Amino acid sequence: MSHFPALEIPDTLAAGPGPGNTDPRVLQRLCHTGVADHMQADVLRGMVECKQMLRQVFGTDNAYTFGVGGTGFSGLDCALSMILPGDTVVAFVNGTFSGLDALTIRMKAATREELAADPLDPQPAGVTVVQVPHGQSVSGEVVEAALAEHRPMWAFLAHWETGSGRINDLQGFNDACAKHGAMGIVDAVSSLGVADFRIDDYPAVVAWASCPQKGVLCLPLTYAPVSFSDQAIALLGQRGCHTYVHHPILEARHWGIVNGQDVAAGTYHRTHSAYAVAALHEALRILLAHGVAQKAADYAYHERALREAVTAMGCEVTSNMTSLVVLNLPARLAGLEKALVGACRAEGFGIWPTLSEPVQVRIGILNQLTQTAVTEIVSRFADAMLQMGAAFDKPAVLDALGQYYALPETPQAAVA
Ligand SMILES: *Cc1c(COP(=O)(O)O)cnc(C)c1O
Repeated sequence: MSHFPALEIPDTLAAGPGPGNTDPRVLQRLCHTGVADHMQADVLRGMVECKQMLRQVFGTDNAYTFGVGGTGFSGLDCALSMILPGDTVVAFVNGTFSGLDALTIRMKAATREELAADPLDPQPAGVTVVQVPHGQSVSGEVVEAALAEHRPMWAFLAHWETGSGRINDLQGFNDACAKHGAMGIVDAVSSLGVADFRIDDYPAVVAWASCPQKGVLCLPLTYAPVSFSDQAIALLGQRGCHTYVHHPILEARHWGIVNGQDVAAGTYHRTHSAYAVAALHEALRILLAHGVAQKAADYAYHERALREAVTAMGCEVTSNMTSLVVLNLPARLAGLEKALVGACRAEGFGIWPTLSEPVQVRIGILNQLTQTAVTEIVSRFADAMLQMGAAFDKPAVLDALGQYYALPETPQAAVA
């Protein structure tokens, strides 16, 4: 039998697309939480309060708003479980994550025969995947044309595609869904807690799924926020779905949501962790104290600082998200993206390459909303580029960054 020493994991600078650096207050709540089971009164009260805070973060009156234990894809699995074999779906894909969402959709919409024909990559007749090239956004026109042609029961969009760093047209998606009678499902994993939007302004979207580790900043594996409209829940009530654990109606009961009404405390669905509940509760308190709108403005302000600095180093930014820049290296470093990222990661500076072609570099600022933090990221990235043979004047880049921060802050809207 092997005997391992205690696992030590160092502190790193998580400067990628996510996970973001968890706030120390969240970790403190996690380890200051006493030993208590999942039906203890304060744990249940914490879940009810989290549910209420999630409604504020989402900007919704949807009763069915709660957390799904697990990661972003757990929440997406819950939302996409509404899709049954044989349903018609149009899914828009412009990067890694919407591609994986489309795979989930194809698995759920496949008939038994279609699944058996290619179990890991089924191609059901009812699902149309509209591919938009990496680096481009899904436009309202593309959605309108596809929904007009296919008239599906469901339509799917990733609001912010983290793989390519692109913001997709949520308003256009909502409008096309309303016009063509499709029920919209949105992956809001990367936008919730970073962008300023209210889901109730998009009534044709009947289900939303986000994650614990990006804008909500609660990595100690907690909950993927989800929200369902009454229309979605009514349909589920009629048709059901093929899951117990991710069944939106059953899972909601533990959060004190029964028959569309809030009840004082939840009833058992599965064994929730007091530590996870306490951590999420603290993360949501921090987010709401900062304010969703203020946070969005802060991300836009600091993303612009990072964008201008890497541009001054000769990189070309192709993203328009405000938590992340996705860039091409200057021509003389082309092809060295993975080596550069690897060298940074070996030093505890956690940036990322793209996970699907073309290979680009991704640098994120989740929970790095200070001049000091952005300057540290710029400085470390500059050092790594210079070591790889880039030619630029680092003091001049840092000087320009200092000047940006010395100017009075002007509100920046995210580039559409
Ligand atoms: C990160 C991400 C996911 C997956 O989230 P996990 O927490 O890794 O499960 C899905 N969709 C988008 C848009 C993402 O950015």
